[in-house]
Amino acid sequence: MFPAMLHLTGKCCLVVGAGGVALRKVQGLMAEGARVHVVAPEVVPQLETLAECGQITLARRAYRSSEAADYVLVFAATNRREVNRKVFEDASRAGVWVNSADDPEHCSFHLPARVQRNPLQIAIASGGEVPFAVRRLRQLLEQRFGPEWGEWIEAASRFRSRVLGMGVDAVEREACFSRFFDATVDRERLSARVPTESEQAEWTGVKTAGEGRAEEPSRQRSAAGQRERTGERVAPVSLVGAGPGCAGLLTLRGRERLMEADAVVYDRLAASALPCDLPPQTELHCVGKTPGRHPVPQEEITALLVRLAREGKRTVRLKGGDPYVFGRGGEEAETLHAEGIPFEVVPGVSSGFGATAWAGIPVTHRGEAVRVTLLTAHECIKRKGPQVRWDLLAQDPHSTLVGYMGVATLPQVAKSLIAGGMDPATPAAMIERGTVATQRTVISTLDDLPEAVIREGLQAPALFVIGPTVGHADVLNWFDALPLAGERLVVPGGASELTRDLEAAGAEIVAVHPPVSPAARVVIAAAPLTGCVLRSPAEVEMLDEERQASGWERDPVTWCLGGETAERARKLGWQQVRQVDEGIGGPELADVIRGREYAA
Ligand code: SAH
Repeated sequence: MFPAMLHLTGKCCLVVGAGGVALRKVQGLMAEGARVHVVAPEVVPQLETLAECGQITLARRAYRSSEAADYVLVFAATNRREVNRKVFEDASRAGVWVNSADDPEHCSFHLPARVQRNPLQIAIASGGEVPFAVRRLRQLLEQRFGPEWGEWIEAASRFRSRVLGMGVDAVEREACFSRFFDATVDRERLSARVPTESEQAEWTGVKTAGEGRAEEPSRQRSAAGQRERTGERVAPVSLVGAGPGCAGLLTLRGRERLMEADAVVYDRLAASALPCDLPPQTELHCVGKTPGRHPVPQEEITALLVRLAREGKRTVRLKGGDPYVFGRGGEEAETLHAEGIPFEVVPGVSSGFGATAWAGIPVTHRGEAVRVTLLTAHECIKRKGPQVRWDLLAQDPHSTLVGYMGVATLPQVAKSLIAGGMDPATPAAMIERGTVATQRTVISTLDDLPEAVIREGLQAPALFVIGPTVGHADVLNWFDALPLAGERLVVPGGASELTRDLEAAGAEIVAVHPPVSPAARVVIAAAPLTGCVLRSPAEVEMLDEERQASGWERDPVTWCLGGETAERARKLGWQQVRQVDEGIGGPELADVIRGREYAA
């Protein structure tokens, strides 16, 4: 096999077929500036949109004999082998390069797997014979070659032009290139950095006006590059609050830090707020309690943060709610400080504010509650027993008490408050898993709440709220009133009008981008799915292998848009397949899901 890289700018390429496989080929060709023509009777919506925007041309019909001959490159990507073969034969006869999907024998070229750090590309190929090995190698290289290589190669290209422009002889040129390479590439860690202007001037032996002045640090520049330039060895740690569970309650800055991180250390409670589009090479460390596994001890968590920072990895410590509200964020920050590791804190929406908002409980209210106390009855200060002054709190009727980690201690708390003089009829609530689909709320009175909680079987994570403002919940309880409250739906294809409509109707949406990332798998596994919305056979295929993972165990309903999608799902053995109209709008789909009305 002879490897070659093709210039496709402005070249006419044909893709026969318009499903998921074809879509990927089209996207790849478009990225290279090719003129893409698609022929297929049935078309996935994404390709339709591209055609509508004039980015590709689309012929909605069957492939016509010999039309492959008019192109420089052809992809046969239909799901019908005989059509693919026909395309292969036509193209081959005309001397046109052709690739048939999943049919190595009918390919005159194969596509390598690649790691892209544009304009750097690393291609891996096995002549189409050992795809499993190629796939795994690609994943390995994807992890080993960080994003900084893209900036590095650009800097190298600029450096090359500069050296060529100096008009020095070949020996000196190579010497300049070696200086650049040796100083900017860490061979052991396979990391790279962008050199400063003054370094480059030194390597080329040319004094510049800017000599000695380091380049402006850019946000995109790699952590490794920055560290090398400043002589630092460690990367900073961000303690980020994930919010109470609903993905949309993560702050903008929190998301920014996550997307730039090399490693993320997250708690179980924070899992559902991980961005599904987190880059696949981000290291993920779960330190929360998972079924059958004890939580990682606090010392090990801090040791892990210190290790990652010392390895030079930008690290996000993602914690449920706010890092400083009963989250041991203070302890982690102190350890980092003591170890000389730079850190910052990105606050989050504490569950005391998020879960209450979702349950319809304003924590302050004019004329009713002028104080909020966040407390836990769980902790003993200096081993002298619980230190909350229930007697004093009991005397403060114009306040709201929000109790974290409060399921087990609630009976004792209620007793202490009543003994301290609080009115037993004070409104009181317990909220379990606030802001996510599985949220449950019990509203009662102080003296009755402990029993009601046991009766309803509420469990951690849950918090109690005691105070007059709890009485507003029956009117302000907007979330439970939404038609799709309680639905947790996976929707491939990222955020769209459809996902926004379903979310507005109250569903928790896990909007996964193809291909499903490790972070998206963590999010899916955070709670059982109730359904999955699939818009094309390609989406069915994309998620097919995912169904064995956790999150899927309760046989979610498979809502399929269009007959072909439903047919593919049934063929692949999906459970509870429900077919709905292909062109259905978000609000109508919400109605269908609520009423569970569907075509047979
Ligand atoms: N730092 C977190 C609290 C960590 S302590 C915050 O600011 O929210 C863990 C406790 O928080 C749980 O036992 C529970 O009482 C509460 N909690 C966390 N997430 C919750 C949620 N979604 N709904 C209700 N309570 C929650």
